[in-house]
Amino acid sequence: MDAKKLAHYKQRLLEKQAALMATVQRIEGYGREKEPAIQDVADMAVESYTKEFLFGKSSGDRRILQLIQDALERIDAKTYGECLHCEGPIQPKRLDAVPWTQYCRDCQTLVEKGLLQDEG
Ligand SMILES: [Zn+2]
Repeated sequence: MDAKKLAHYKQRLLEKQAALMATVQRIEGYGREKEPAIQDVADMAVESYTKEFLFGKSSGDRRILQLIQDALERIDAKTYGECLHCEGPIQPKRLDAVPWTQYCRDCQTLVEKGLLQDEG
């Protein structure tokens, strides 16, 4: 991949990384806040649902942050855009949609079917 394209994907990864970090920090700040006084069972249910949702989202975001970090390392190592499994080129459309993707389309299908160990 040429330097110009690498710089383009690096910029997109850094922007996404900054946005996710802000989200994760906000969610974790929420978790540390003192429990508000709970009025009744309905409120309690809403409260716990909200937390579950937020923390579920937080762990998903953390996973993506890790993938972004890995992708940035691959950019520095000049291996960005190669599938981690077959080392073939990842389709540019995939990189445009998900710049931190690790696999080409075929290998991604295998991962989703559980036929390939997810190395991430
Ligand atoms: Zn592949």
